[in-house]
Amino acid sequence: MKGYAGNNLRIDLTDETIKTFPTDEKTMRRFLGGRGFGAKVLWDEVAGVDPFSPENKIIVTAGPLSGLFLPAAGKTHFTSKSPLTGGFGDSNMGGFFCAEMKYAGYDSIIIEGKSDKPVYIVIKNNDVQIRDASHLWGKGALTGEEIIRKDLGEEYHVSIIGQGGENLVRFACINSDYGREAGRAGIGAVFGSKKLKAIAVTGTKDIEVADYEKFMKVTKEIFEACFKHPDLKPWQRYGTSQVVTWASEIGALPTRNFSTGTFEHAEAIGGETMRQKVVKLDKACNACPMACGKWSYSGKYGHYAEGGEYETLALMGSNCSIDDIETVIEGNYLCDEYGIDTISTGNIIGFVMEATEKGLMNEARFGDKEKYLELIRKIAFREGTGDLLAEGVKRVSEKVGGKEYAIQIKGMEQSGYESRGAPAMQLAYMTCDVGAHHNRAWAITQDIKVGRDVLDGKAEWVIRLQHIRPMFDQLGVCRLQWVELAVDLNYYARLFEAVTGWPTTLDELLISSERTWNLTRAYWFREVPGFGRTWDMPPARVYKEDVPDGATKGMRLSEDKLNYLLDDYYKLRGWDKNGKPTLEKLKTLRLEEVVGKI
Ligand code: SF4
Repeated sequence: MKGYAGNNLRIDLTDETIKTFPTDEKTMRRFLGGRGFGAKVLWDEVAGVDPFSPENKIIVTAGPLSGLFLPAAGKTHFTSKSPLTGGFGDSNMGGFFCAEMKYAGYDSIIIEGKSDKPVYIVIKNNDVQIRDASHLWGKGALTGEEIIRKDLGEEYHVSIIGQGGENLVRFACINSDYGREAGRAGIGAVFGSKKLKAIAVTGTKDIEVADYEKFMKVTKEIFEACFKHPDLKPWQRYGTSQVVTWASEIGALPTRNFSTGTFEHAEAIGGETMRQKVVKLDKACNACPMACGKWSYSGKYGHYAEGGEYETLALMGSNCSIDDIETVIEGNYLCDEYGIDTISTGNIIGFVMEATEKGLMNEARFGDKEKYLELIRKIAFREGTGDLLAEGVKRVSEKVGGKEYAIQIKGMEQSGYESRGAPAMQLAYMTCDVGAHHNRAWAITQDIKVGRDVLDGKAEWVIRLQHIRPMFDQLGVCRLQWVELAVDLNYYARLFEAVTGWPTTLDELLISSERTWNLTRAYWFREVPGFGRTWDMPPARVYKEDVPDGATKGMRLSEDKLNYLLDDYYKLRGWDKNGKPTLEKLKTLRLEEVVGKI
């Protein structure tokens, strides 16, 4: 098979067996790879188990385009049953890990079982070892990566957890390349539950391409399209941090626990301030011309961090009313070192601050920088109140009260857009297949374009994005060249065809994405008792409270409007009124494995 490495690893940490199996062409034609293959393995192999049990699995995947010389071919995907939500969980990160996996000869690594002592996995081509990690356990993710690369060599790329993952913080992440994170769904905690500290990989194998001339031609065209786009330079200079001030101007920047969308100090934590005060270097993933990663230094605290990326600036900044970029960068650094997701962490601390101001808790008020930094540490080490906060905002609110302003859906803390004035974005959060996450459908630009109170057409747009954007996760490449530099989507079908030699159209790739979307929806129905429409609804703040100020002042989305959006969405998807894929839909998508199981 061209484009694919052709081989896969299956590592059982209970009995330390290491097996390989060949990549299956039929499966890859249906699911492509990356997120699609991860979802397929999870469906087939992880049913009815506790996320922290040895029977849960971690599926690490590359895509057919990962590791090749084409723009931004470095998205590594992690899939597991989520300890945060109890449902389908996946998360991806940029960097170089999946490229190195393929150079070592593997399209995926499936990890199962549970070790009784800390271990890490070292892979060099066909040599795969499970090694003692007692010298790494208790260390931060950034520190641990440095130790491993000093020991093994800089040619290794490392996926590693920090103390948050070891301590089973339900939103612990996986770090790589000193600051790239697979942040969402708590898969770092699944590493911790298996006593798996890290995976280090290096390889020297080639990836074969079916039609080299065609491949190079398309690659050249994509690079040219990127280089001539006027937005390339701003992206190289600011990365996603440039979104902060824009989001505040349109009333979408989560501020003081999503109570409003306008932050009076947005400029103080935005792209220009960040560039002038803390950014020291630009950082890119494998073969990426955009280099949206920023390497920043806070002189006040004496730490470097990769960031702040928009979501971190929003959740760890305005959402906690932190108005100082150096403090946000320090929060970013602590989350990276401890290995906890900045989005969930900032969301939860924002909740704690509101709960404190309303007398439900006694921890920290909005803007209290010292307590804010202290809370991050307490969460990672499950110290005092941190033990409860490490369970995620939904569980915290069930214990202390304040459910109406615990901003989560399906148990996942919402990411960086206050969406009462953005029905498409709100629907994207409601229907995202891991919980309230933005990356499946960044639909807010459509709300701005066609009208913020318009409901019709929004479901159709969200579905379109939910097919396009995850397609990139199946191929194993970054989507930002399409989103921000207008690279034509058809290039990706041409690339897939040139690389694999399989005649392909863009529509066929999108059908594979839709197939995966329905599979992940089915997973929720199979695994979570009582799952359905109510799980797609946001907390009461969205439909009961008007936005108090800013560009969206007076807006909210009533329950009627939310149900209207959901009805439209389910109908267009071919799902029933409870949001369950119909038999007809499953058959159309050739999801035979799901028929009769939900
Ligand atoms: Fe990585 Fe940013 Fe490039 Fe995407 S755009 S590949 S996230 S550097």
